[in-house]
Amino acid sequence: MTQRVGIIGWPLTTTFSPAMHNAAFQALGMDWVYDKMAIPLDIVRLGILEPQRHGYVGINVTIPHKEEAMRYVVPDALAQMVGAVNTIDLRTMGGTNTDVAGLVTDLQANGVELAGKRAVILGAGGAARAAVVGLTQAGASVVVVNRSLERARAMVANLALSNITIQAEAQTLDDAVEQGGIDLIINATPAGMFPDVEATPWINGVPFPRGVTVYDMIYRPAQTRLMRQAEEHGGRAIGGLGMLVYQGAAAFKLWTGVEPPVEVMFAAVRGELGE
Ligand code: NAP
Repeated sequence: MTQRVGIIGWPLTTTFSPAMHNAAFQALGMDWVYDKMAIPLDIVRLGILEPQRHGYVGINVTIPHKEEAMRYVVPDALAQMVGAVNTIDLRTMGGTNTDVAGLVTDLQANGVELAGKRAVILGAGGAARAAVVGLTQAGASVVVVNRSLERARAMVANLALSNITIQAEAQTLDDAVEQGGIDLIINATPAGMFPDVEATPWINGVPFPRGVTVYDMIYRPAQTRLMRQAEEHGGRAIGGLGMLVYQGAAAFKLWTGVEPPVEVMFAAVRGELGE
């Protein structure tokens, strides 16, 4: 019998997850299908419970339902720390957050050291919070910078209440740069994403630090303006495609118990992006 998994989100006009997972199932000769399900804000509960009733094995949850979905599942410790689930096992109603592993695995795959390093995280939404959890657990200290500083402060204060020791503070970009010692900058904002490709989360007039690594969670375009700024200042730039693939690979492993064909998944997303 065909096994079914899928993704819920809204409006979910563009998602590369179906192509990525279906390519993986096909490559391994598995009788599984990954569906795309657009679920409006007022029926998130049904968007989770109905696939379960119809025998789906699991679902991914994307914008804007990741936080709301917490109410209808049993979140694991990681999801509780991040405050959001992006992967649900509908057999157990367990929810987890594979964005954390997606980011950290891709940083490691690119040879980026985290232990003892100082990272600036741009943004204070769900993706930024996943980055704070992943990086601090890997031994980095982080500074959260957000255009509304209050939201960054609230996020750090809230994380400090959780059981893990978090090496994190909220600062303005000016202060973070002035303090120096930045090894890594992570963009967890949509600034610079297609079609607004000339935008950058880097505030005009704040000097760009030299020789830092920028990890931009954006993967469309493959090279963002922020990534170009890093390279122009003698640094290194990595786009967010790997994070997308590795978070999907972690979900694939959870649902199927099978080792995901990561290269097939990379090729499928690159194909969708026309790269
Ligand atoms: P979110 O919860 O909506 O948070 C967005 C954050 O970006 C907020 O802190 C917001 O600041 C800030 N922001 C928005 N527009 C900005 C601008 N023009 N300039 C500066 N800051 C801006 O979104 P999210 O779920 O965290 O996702 C953030 C980004 O990460 C998105 O681009 C998403 O596609 C990407 N992402 C990628 C992956 C991947 O697999 N590669 C996974 C997850 C997310 P305020 O608080 O002031 O509004």
